[in-house]
Amino acid sequence: GGRPVSSLFPALAPAGGRLDRTALRFGDRSLTYRRLAGAAGALAGELAGEAPGAEGPRPVAVWAVPSPETVVGTVAGLLAGRPVVPLNPKAGSRELAHVLGDSDPSAVLTAPGEALPGPADGLRRTDVRLDAEGPLPAREPEPGAAALIVYTSGTTGPPKGAVLPRRALAATLDALADAWAWTGADVLVHGLPLFHVHGLVLGALGPLRRGGELRHLGRFTPEGVARGLGGGGTMLFGVPTMYHRLAESLETEPGLVGALAGARLLVSGSAALPLPVHRRIEAATGRRVVERYGMTETLMNTSVRADATGGPGTVGVPLHGVDLRLVGEDGGVLTGRDGETIGEVQVRGENLFSGYLNRPDATAAAFDGDWFRTGDMAVREPDGRVRLVGRRATDLIKSGGYRIGAGEVENALLDHPRVREAAVTGEPDTALGERVVAWVVAADPAAPPSAAELADHVARVLSPHKRPRRVRFLDALPRNDMGKVVKRALGTG
Ligand code: ATP
Ligand code: MG
Repeated sequence: GGRPVSSLFPALAPAGGRLDRTALRFGDRSLTYRRLAGAAGALAGELAGEAPGAEGPRPVAVWAVPSPETVVGTVAGLLAGRPVVPLNPKAGSRELAHVLGDSDPSAVLTAPGEALPGPADGLRRTDVRLDAEGPLPAREPEPGAAALIVYTSGTTGPPKGAVLPRRALAATLDALADAWAWTGADVLVHGLPLFHVHGLVLGALGPLRRGGELRHLGRFTPEGVARGLGGGGTMLFGVPTMYHRLAESLETEPGLVGALAGARLLVSGSAALPLPVHRRIEAATGRRVVERYGMTETLMNTSVRADATGGPGTVGVPLHGVDLRLVGEDGGVLTGRDGETIGEVQVRGENLFSGYLNRPDATAAAFDGDWFRTGDMAVREPDGRVRLVGRRATDLIKSGGYRIGAGEVENALLDHPRVREAAVTGEPDTALGERVVAWVVAADPAAPPSAAELADHVARVLSPHKRPRRVRFLDALPRNDMGKVVKRALGTG
């Protein structure tokens, strides 16, 4: 007897024994598992009662501001078997219109009274009420049913809606929990946005899967991290730009070093973590930053690097349940140990998405049988680790008969003491085919290093053919909401 159990979130059931524990904390607003179960159960009942579309349950959108309502709305959608589309509340009107037009949600879930801008204001609204009370639904959707439709970051083109099945959600969260010994005793601290897999699935559903606590910072600040980790937090998730800010605040932010040193786990993901940032944090706190590599389509879960010994770009070994291979341009599967042979990272496993919404062409192009073509290029190190060198679309520069990974040159530039940020692109060159161009933010804008000094540095630490032929100085690199460099915005000139 008793209430039904959600196989995704056993802690929501009385038998989980965690109902009086804190599930979510956003500033001074917090929710126990009992409240979360009641509120999400009530909303799930409403959502499950709505008429399905021609092709099954209609998606429902969530206005994903960092709030308890966003998490309750997402959990309710999952319980009801309605694919959840998290919306970026900071998205511009064109991007919002693209996502809404593509996913066609029946309604948007918001906190009561939330004002919606532009194209979202015309949607039917359903309030998420934290004081509502209802039972968990009696029936669960199939493991293959769509749980979430998450739009990719749009780094290489317009965001695509990755359809993520329930089984992938469970597989990812369990593989990460096992890799990191993540338990119900953990308190995860982060300030990540809740409209991407990183912040929403790993960062919010991750703690709930194991009956732990999410402590969200609202907005990321080094001070918030010091307070959140200092006050009992055990884990921190972030993107490299956040770790960059932490590294720069180590000496000035009271309590930050102690808070980081006291954490059980610091994880960076979504983009390459510059080695100098890692080194500064490790030197000050004795804590290593674990680098996680993945993408929306694999629910972020591809590989983790549990130590810093692998050198720049190394992202470690595949997680449990994930097969990873590198495939050369001719389609041959690379198995050798030739560190200079660059191949595309392809993965297969339970953690994969089932396709891009409304994009059969892009879906077909993304798969080679059951292998997902990540679009990332890498080399296999002699110890078996994967070292990323950049993206197929933008980061493989063919110059003078060589293939040069932009990421490798970026890491070399970042290792220069007078470089704060760096991005590398290729531009047409009559003699070389393409030439390497470096876009650099100087550590001290008043005294930038010379172009020749940087080019010589790259030639010295890598090899002469990887030397940037042109160096451009900028005040800042163009970045998207996930802090990723948007190379399209750099142009070629
Ligand atoms: P789009 O697919 O729309 O162009 P995107 O690929 O940036 O955008 P995401 O799915 O959010 O969207 O990001 C996944 C990508 O981020 C990976 O394919 C990889 O290029 C990069 N990435 C993630 N983690 C790391 C890491 N640890 N090191 C280097 N790159 C990473
Ligand atoms: Mg991508």
